[in-house]
Amino acid sequence: MIVGAISRISGPVVLSEGMRGSRMYDVVKVGKEQLNGEIIRLDGDQAVIQVYEDTTGLQVGEHVSNTGLPLSVELGPGLLSSIYDGIQRPLPLLAEKSGSFISRGIAVPGISHEKRWVFSPRAKTGMRVSGGDVIGTVHEHHLEHRIMVPPFVSGIVKDIYEGEFTIDEPVCILEDGRKITMMQTWPVRKGRPYQRKMDPDTLLVTGQRVFDTLFPVTKGGTAMIPGGFGTGKTVAEQTLAKWSDTQIVVYIGCGERGNEMTDVLTEFPELLDPKTKLPLIQRTVLIANTSNMPVAAREASIYTGITIAEYYRDMGYDVALMADSTSRWGEALREVSGRLEEMPGEEGYPAYLATRLAAFYERAGRVVCLGSDERKGSVTVVGAVSPPGGDFSEPITQNTLRIAGTFWALDTSLAYRRHFPSVNWIKSYSLYLDQIQDWYTASGFSDWKDLRAQAMYLLQKEVELQEIVQLVGPDALPESEKAILEITRMIREDFLQQSAYHDIDSFCSLEKQYWMLKVILFFYDRLNLSMGKGIPLSKILKLPVKAEIGRMKELTEIGKIKEIADTIDSSLGSLEVER
Ligand code: ADP
Ligand code: MG
Repeated sequence: MIVGAISRISGPVVLSEGMRGSRMYDVVKVGKEQLNGEIIRLDGDQAVIQVYEDTTGLQVGEHVSNTGLPLSVELGPGLLSSIYDGIQRPLPLLAEKSGSFISRGIAVPGISHEKRWVFSPRAKTGMRVSGGDVIGTVHEHHLEHRIMVPPFVSGIVKDIYEGEFTIDEPVCILEDGRKITMMQTWPVRKGRPYQRKMDPDTLLVTGQRVFDTLFPVTKGGTAMIPGGFGTGKTVAEQTLAKWSDTQIVVYIGCGERGNEMTDVLTEFPELLDPKTKLPLIQRTVLIANTSNMPVAAREASIYTGITIAEYYRDMGYDVALMADSTSRWGEALREVSGRLEEMPGEEGYPAYLATRLAAFYERAGRVVCLGSDERKGSVTVVGAVSPPGGDFSEPITQNTLRIAGTFWALDTSLAYRRHFPSVNWIKSYSLYLDQIQDWYTASGFSDWKDLRAQAMYLLQKEVELQEIVQLVGPDALPESEKAILEITRMIREDFLQQSAYHDIDSFCSLEKQYWMLKVILFFYDRLNLSMGKGIPLSKILKLPVKAEIGRMKELTEIGKIKEIADTIDSSLGSLEVER
């Protein structure tokens, strides 16, 4: 084993002499306390190490030993409902061992090596198996956890067992003597292999109207949520973690305040999945590297999270990964790079910021899994970005913009007016609109794209009209344009605004979204018809049905929403008759 000695310490960055023979990204144990670190630069005898734990009290001359292994995670049953730090140590176990989450040098496994799982074999003696093949299953909560042959392993099954095993005991022996257990270890910086990527053509249903209807993201797609302080990034990420229609959610709290993670930890165990009615925590893996935890581990938390996500994808599941916030990871890169005295790029960020971000988002996707042409899985990545002062021209926002397929721009002035989600409908976009058109049609909403286009047209028109109103006052507008302002107010308040805390409205089914928008746009069409027959707008706006539209959010039956369209038609009809 290579053992060196510390020659310099600068925050999370440590220089060690006597490290010849080490490889980049080898994991090392630093100092008496055996702090976990990773080699990020090699120069002759010297290794530069980023340490994932607090380096306070560390001294020059203390030893550094190289484990010879890359930073890896343990993958197997027992991941779900876990709460990890950045390097996959279960936080409850850390707290137990040290009395606080912020402990150092403690080695605890990512998943229990004692727990026994009931393994049901699927492969048979004599079968040829290779990487990705499912050789058996275990129940992890309600999920069928598929035990796969690790990538790059193949052979003929000599023995396969049935019964209760720990993750270290072999469940299958190959003819060459190789033993397969229920656990794989995987180096986090390396994407797990798959057969091929597919076009993302399925909507990730989030139950949030502004996302699903206006700016959709696909399963296997990427989305970014940039926004200044208090605009609702964390609420959005948590809402997505709650309601997205995926089997698995990986939630990474990266460099943000600890109390936000506490919210997740206390809330999730109590919440039920709207479809399965099972506790949401049972489909969730939480990774917490909060602002009070070591900076260098932010990067590890991002990689640990995406690797766990890929593992469940490989089983054929849809996985959503939320990272709050990728800016804190970028800032960690900047801090480490600064201490390495690297040539700084834009705003002090390292020149490789763009490639790091791209490599992370690149691990999203919908794929044909290794092992079977029929098995398909996806990882959707939703990254929050926290630009200082809400200024989107800064490097992390700009570099992420080039990669992400959906852009949910949170807006400080909307948040200030308490319009939530504060997604700015003019600045935001989705590049997936064409790709999911067929999916919408197949789901029974064939005119979704037209409805969306009409709503977007009106919202854009509103901006122009408001400029005119600012200059010359509302009275200058013709009736038809006043009507547009009335409809866009409805679209904004009665459709786009959606409270994350409302009992009924926090989740809105796709069908309900569709009918809500349809009713509002029907009102617009029907109102134009009446106005064409000489009915003044002011009279139409006094109709009680207007308030009914405002209450659609609270309705649970689609039938009741459809009835509003009938009421619109009949009440406008009677105005026309009265005349
Ligand atoms: P950020 O993470 O961007 O700093 P938060 O997600 O913590 O902001 O949101 C700040 C506050 O805004 C929340 O505490 C909440 O009061 C409000 N808020 C944000 N989104 C919503 C929403 N969808 N519904 C209701 N309130 C919201
Ligand atoms: Mg936040």
